[in-house]
Amino acid sequence: MGLLVDGVPLSWHDSQPYRAKVKRDGITQFLNVYKSMKDTVTADLKWGDEVEYMLISLDEAKRTARLPLSAPDLLAVLQREEHSQPPGSTVPVLWRPEYANWMIEGTPGVPYRAFAADLVLVEQNMALRRKAVESLLRKDECALTLTAFPRQGCPQFTVPESTPGGPFARSLYTSDDVINPHPRFGTLTRNIRTRRGRKVDILVPLYQDRYTKLDQPLLFDDSAYRSALSKSSIAQSSPANTVPQNHHQRSQTSDVIETTSDTPDTPSEDQITDTAYMTYKEALQATSGKNIVMDSAAFGMGCCCLQVTLQGSDISESRYLYDQLAVMAPIMLSLTAATPAFRGLLADTDARWDVIAAAMDDRTADERETGRIPKSRYSSIDCFISDRAKAKAAQYNDLPVPIDETTYARLVAEGIDPLLAQHVAHLYIREPLVIYGDHVDQDNEKSTDHFENIQSTNWNTVRFKPPPPGTGIGWRTEFRSMEVGLTDFENAAFSVFVVLLSRVILAFDLNLYVPMSRVDENMRTAHQRNSAVDALFHFRKNIFSASSASGFVCAAGHIHHASIVGSKANVNDISAFCPDHSDSESDGETDVIESFTLNEIFNGKPLCHDGKQAGYAFPGLIPLIRGYIESINLDDSTLSRLNTYLDFVGDRAAGRVCTTATFIRNTILRHPAYRHDSVVSEEICHDLVKLCRDITSGASGAAELLGRFHLERYGGVDSSEAMMERMKKAPVGKQAGTLPGSSLPHSALHRTLSAIAMSQATNACSGC
Ligand code: ADP
Ligand code: MG
Ligand code: MG
Repeated sequence: MGLLVDGVPLSWHDSQPYRAKVKRDGITQFLNVYKSMKDTVTADLKWGDEVEYMLISLDEAKRTARLPLSAPDLLAVLQREEHSQPPGSTVPVLWRPEYANWMIEGTPGVPYRAFAADLVLVEQNMALRRKAVESLLRKDECALTLTAFPRQGCPQFTVPESTPGGPFARSLYTSDDVINPHPRFGTLTRNIRTRRGRKVDILVPLYQDRYTKLDQPLLFDDSAYRSALSKSSIAQSSPANTVPQNHHQRSQTSDVIETTSDTPDTPSEDQITDTAYMTYKEALQATSGKNIVMDSAAFGMGCCCLQVTLQGSDISESRYLYDQLAVMAPIMLSLTAATPAFRGLLADTDARWDVIAAAMDDRTADERETGRIPKSRYSSIDCFISDRAKAKAAQYNDLPVPIDETTYARLVAEGIDPLLAQHVAHLYIREPLVIYGDHVDQDNEKSTDHFENIQSTNWNTVRFKPPPPGTGIGWRTEFRSMEVGLTDFENAAFSVFVVLLSRVILAFDLNLYVPMSRVDENMRTAHQRNSAVDALFHFRKNIFSASSASGFVCAAGHIHHASIVGSKANVNDISAFCPDHSDSESDGETDVIESFTLNEIFNGKPLCHDGKQAGYAFPGLIPLIRGYIESINLDDSTLSRLNTYLDFVGDRAAGRVCTTATFIRNTILRHPAYRHDSVVSEEICHDLVKLCRDITSGASGAAELLGRFHLERYGGVDSSEAMMERMKKAPVGKQAGTLPGSSLPHSALHRTLSAIAMSQATNACSGC
């Protein structure tokens, strides 16, 4: 969501005199936080999820699905409980605005704690959120956790109808009316476009079916749409075009202050020189070829996602988790992929990430073409940051990392180590996009707003978050790549998986590093159609640290089967059984990676010996997590629920249940009205949304998507008060078990590895 400040955001042109100061002061603020908090230890894990909801309105008679622009009104009601509390009190759910007027974000009201029992609270908290939103909807509306609306940008895709265009995005497909009325969002959109010097330019490969038109025209072949467009701002050569109605109205009725530069009567200098868009006439002449073309931030920022934030015990742990989770970001994007269609057309890809990356790309042509700034500010990360000597993070930073030299020099002079200084100076190659004229002067001891200005507009796959001053909150890592699933069950399962994996990484001292260039290759792979089943990802072959090698594990990280090496095998003998033993003679870093399917990464990769399973070349993340949860003391109900989540994630990785993207794609392809032309018509979209609504509520099963998990719901929905009580009260007895990180005794890893060594693989051995 980013930083929301009440005030007047400046246009790109008007912000020029302040940008350098905002950057300089932002670094002062970062240094102040760093110096006062670098030794802070917050031993207890805290964590939280973020889920974004999409409002959709269904018209049964007309068989249409549209996006209502009512989220700001709904949000005001949802936030009443929070706003009516005396200071210092808590609510079980926090509601926050999001970019598009069909979106709302919900998070737990207070972070979850280190109790294992809190892992099973998350699904119920999500259910409470959904119930709260649903209670405010009209009969014909639903709130879905759908990553992208398949017909966003098609003619008449909103209610009320909105005409494409407006001074912020200047889009041919979306109206500025879809942008949240808080002035930050419109300004962000316009300033990205102005800085870039042209509109954002989003291309997604079109899925090619039997009758797909390969020369898709840039504009819709819809006369009503064209005539509306020709009357709208885009057709006019005058840059001082109309302000979207929504913004105009709201600026008069709410306390949101509109920028004067957007009023129709007083075109600002920005507007007069604003040619950073394509005119209607130009658009008519252009064809989009084999791509789906989109042209506004709403196509990306209007997508919903699932994020998880984890508090490390100290700065070093957070830095390590940042690196480890960065490697997992493409893997989890592939596993949660949910976006097979954009702008009424089937895409040849399954994930949203590249669309948002292009939607928020503020680089100038020169910055892009010379490679001076290789990526959009919405992108995968470029450098690892761990300061653990053993981790050797710098060794894996094989991508160019452009930095702001002045910032780097200042950070190093102030005592920041080179890797962290590089990370921050890399964030600082970007400029502040939204500056509030009346917030330029700040108390740099108390505020971090200027730091957050740059930090929160570097929308990366993971984010390293310093503690906000004076809050007691510690150093955190945010995991940001996942797409959102239809049900609370799926979203809880993936959130819990991320939390447990992060604990296992710390508890078992795992090392997932691969060279950064390979992480980027994985990011590209994750977008491929059905990558969760078909694709190979780079992953580290041996994820154990040298000290883990014992019992059944050889120095190459393989786990050898008990029946072959003998159940009391000694570590020194094990290598004799290992066909790949020579691997381990290398320095362990030069040839660290191999190609794996998601099934192998999650469920394990069997090792073969004379045609029989001889153990595992890779143990699988899920068996490691199962070993972890078995070595901590859990009550039966929590344990069983966690195992259900792991079963589901494992089944998804094995392809036993499909991704949401595959499910949506197949639903479209099988629809009787589908013409094998890649078009997602109004009718198909309506039926798809209706089916999604019924799957979400449990009214309809979806064997392909949820398999045996289709009826999974955890308990009833608590009342708000009961939920708050559970989130605050410390559990007792067996339920009071916590999730240790690095403090878990080493013996737990040994037990886990022995159990894996004895187990029969569920995967077929690829070598036999
Ligand atoms: P964003 O940067 O995405 O706006 P916020 O800081 O508002 O994120 O919160 C994101 C998530 O962090 C929420 O799920 C929230 O519950 C969680 N969170 C809040 N406090 C902590 C904490 N101390 N440790 C870990 N997560 C926390
Ligand atoms: Mg959000
Ligand atoms: Mg977030």
